[in-house]
Amino acid sequence: MPIRLHNSLTRRTELFTPLDPERVTMYVCGPTVYHYVHIGNARPYVVFGLLARLLRRHYPRVVYARNITDVDDKINAAALAAGTPIGAITDRYAAAFRADMAKLGADAPDVEPHATAHIGEIIAMCERLIADGHAYAAEGHVLFDVASYPDYGQLSRRSVDDMIAGARVEVAPYKRNPADFVLWKPSTPELPGWDSPWGRGRPGWHIECSAMAATHLGDTIDIHAGGNDLMFPHHENEIAQSTCAHDGKPFARYWLHNGMLTFSGAKMSKSVGNVARLHDLLERHPPEALRYALLSAHYRQPLEWSDALIEQSVRTLDRLYGTLRELAAYNVLPEIVTLDVENALLDDLNTPEALSALNGLAVEARHILENEPKPLSDAAHSELARIKSDLLGCAELLGLLQQDPEAWFQGKPGVQADSAVIESLLDDRRAARAARDFQRADAIRDQLAAMGIAIEDGPQGTRWKVAER
Ligand code: AMP
Ligand code: ZN
Repeated sequence: MPIRLHNSLTRRTELFTPLDPERVTMYVCGPTVYHYVHIGNARPYVVFGLLARLLRRHYPRVVYARNITDVDDKINAAALAAGTPIGAITDRYAAAFRADMAKLGADAPDVEPHATAHIGEIIAMCERLIADGHAYAAEGHVLFDVASYPDYGQLSRRSVDDMIAGARVEVAPYKRNPADFVLWKPSTPELPGWDSPWGRGRPGWHIECSAMAATHLGDTIDIHAGGNDLMFPHHENEIAQSTCAHDGKPFARYWLHNGMLTFSGAKMSKSVGNVARLHDLLERHPPEALRYALLSAHYRQPLEWSDALIEQSVRTLDRLYGTLRELAAYNVLPEIVTLDVENALLDDLNTPEALSALNGLAVEARHILENEPKPLSDAAHSELARIKSDLLGCAELLGLLQQDPEAWFQGKPGVQADSAVIESLLDDRRAARAARDFQRADAIRDQLAAMGIAIEDGPQGTRWKVAER
């Protein structure tokens, strides 16, 4: 079945055809690990992780690379402030990033290259670019010569003059042209550095991704993705370096960019200060609700983050898990992904439509449960078993409904009491009811309510869940 993807390079939604269907390659720019990431940073890893998952359903082999940027001026500043080597900072935050991504259900990459493990390849790429007249060394720096590559600006569709006028380029005496950008720069003794033909120094950020993508995926890759804030200069510069270092071979055939997560109306960003740390959010909210919230908008659209969005996602999952709980007695048939969910995802990863189809399944099940005459007919039972399997199959692809419904209702962060205390109060209540001491039974219910626990008596006994606030 065809996958259609919006390619930022052509500004069109195109049919995806890999260069080699036996080995589909995808590179996603990874985090700079000097701090905990914010929820906006998680968006590309959740959506493009889902794309990797979708691709794996259609191609025998997908190599998904997501790098770790572990040398950078912000890391140096954090290490200097903490009085530790950069490795202590980067190891700590790379581990936190991996753990938090796993909690969010963001697919782990097949390859996780670290920039500091690719210094040899980076130096070799700089040498190649110099030898071919696309870069020059000056005062311990190596600079890419933008004038040597007439297609520069093809992705962001900016002219070199616009870029200079945009003032995001640093004017420096060692540059031939203000738009030339750094491939290698000198390090002072207190900064991390590596020996190179241009003296002790460290790589620029853009060349790191070009070298890591080439090392692990090849000269031409199928998909390159990241946030749309990286389109210029980062991705533009990656294209220039990689194309020029590989005899003009195209670098990435499909460029995918996610829209920005906003918070109080502005792009969530550390420099603005309007960030919600993923690590903190995961302490306070069910990870699946955060994932649901991230998938609730199409990846190319902006998404405004808010408490209301999280609460709405929790409520929707409550409904879905509630439905699954009603279907607890049904055996799961082989799980399948329904066509409407699959087709929505194949259409440029239309997650809002896929989620709406998922919710539609739960609505169907509740309709049968509420409206069909009781006892349910055999046909109604088999329909419910089918819906349960579809629900679980679709949810698995979306990375949702991965818990037992009871665990979902009982495990939401915010539960103050420990479950052993709750169970023992429920035992007391059962004993009181058996002794027809309803006053005592009601008092225990009130005590649980005061602890934020709601109980529900049903044919399968008494269940408890964290009450809605
Ligand atoms: P960084 O570590 O800043 O390079 O960011 C890691 C990834 O997060 C990149 O793909 C960025 O484009 C992306 N990103 C940064 N801020 C946001 C945001 N507010 N919304 C969505 N993606 C973002
Ligand atoms: Zn990159």
